[in-house]
Amino acid sequence: MTTLPVTTSPAFRAPRGTYDLIPPRSAAYLAVREAFAAPARRAGYGYVETPGFEDVRLFARGVGESTDIVTKEMYTLTTRGGDELALRPEGTASVLRAALENNLHKQGNLPVKLWYSGSYYRYERPQKGRYRHFSQVGAEAIGAEDPALDAELIVLAVDGYRALGLTGFRLLLNSLGDRECRPAYRTALQDFLRGLDLDGPTRERIEINPLRVLDDKRPEIRAQLDAAPLMRDHLCEACKAYHEQVRELLTAAGVAYEDDPRLVRGLDYYTRTTFEFAHDGLGAQSAIGGGGRYDGLSEMIGGPALPSVGWALGVDRTVLALAAEGVELDLPAATDVYAAALGERARRTLFGVVTELRRAGVAADFAFGGKGLKNALKSADRSGARFALVAGERDLDEGVVQLKDLGSGEQRPVALAAVVDELRGLLA
Ligand code: AMP
Repeated sequence: MTTLPVTTSPAFRAPRGTYDLIPPRSAAYLAVREAFAAPARRAGYGYVETPGFEDVRLFARGVGESTDIVTKEMYTLTTRGGDELALRPEGTASVLRAALENNLHKQGNLPVKLWYSGSYYRYERPQKGRYRHFSQVGAEAIGAEDPALDAELIVLAVDGYRALGLTGFRLLLNSLGDRECRPAYRTALQDFLRGLDLDGPTRERIEINPLRVLDDKRPEIRAQLDAAPLMRDHLCEACKAYHEQVRELLTAAGVAYEDDPRLVRGLDYYTRTTFEFAHDGLGAQSAIGGGGRYDGLSEMIGGPALPSVGWALGVDRTVLALAAEGVELDLPAATDVYAAALGERARRTLFGVVTELRRAGVAADFAFGGKGLKNALKSADRSGARFALVAGERDLDEGVVQLKDLGSGEQRPVALAAVVDELRGLLA
């Protein structure tokens, strides 16, 4: 038998732009996901899970051929069978594909409301808050055009942030118009942009997707955009009325927003309502979530007309935002009770008690590996448990175990038969 060489530094590290979620920090990620999912579930959104990779053309068509996501950031691969796939860079196109493929839109109950949670991949330049593997929770409402639906989704996201105790976020809101009014605006914007002093790639972008130029973060470009025509001033009557209703519903729901006439977002498929949640404690990567209406996407990927709206909230950045605000989440203890046995008979007995406690819903752990009592109690302290159970031969002879309050240090014997109920009472 060969043995593996023992090295002091690990031979492998997480790939650049990625990181491991490890305890105890990882508990915050679970809590954030749950805080986002709970309001969606309460509003009738059902859970959907799609593959981590898709036909690359789904994203090329759905997200947009001219977007950074598609041109620079996708992880693409060719399978042994010759299929061209991409690790999913975002969730909406996949979820809509899944809804169409499974005929969810034909079951007579529109909108189809779905929520999801998972990993997304973008080959971006890594920095704080920007990773190559990141985590989003998303919600999509497919197949209905109703300002109340746009408002519902925005309120659900706000309620998710609020449930976590986050306060320092802002909701930026805009309308991108629709196929009635956007073409004329697009032409007006192109005419304006063509007159500016811009580099080659930006000039190309004017022809393919001029709205994205408004999104340019470089100061030398921004400085030239002050007089750019804005969609706000070119909205048709229907889009204007729609947007006004969304705003009124948000206000009635107690949700404050800022009109941001330059908000366009990095994906091509948005129409009408567009929004982003920004957090000022994060530096450059301030977007903690975003979304909007995408009335044309279904047709772009070969489906029927299905006006839809959705959002994706970034889990990684929300965790950073919580830290920036100094919010401590009220997380359930990993371990409430820690059992330490002296001797084989006590080990068997306490293992049984731990099993019973767990089955009764108490988070309990056990001193494994034959630790001495001193070490076992150290582990109990480190585990964050509130109580330790200690037992040796003499305790068992007396039919008791010692129950130690790790906060006060107080210890008392409790009848073995009563210990599970006793602990449940103490922890309730
Ligand atoms: P987007 O689809 O780009 O609007 O992304 C929605 C949300 O996901 C953003 O608001 C971010 O919070 C998060 N997000 C997007 N890209 C990344 C990334 N590279 N690293 C971490 N979070 C990201």
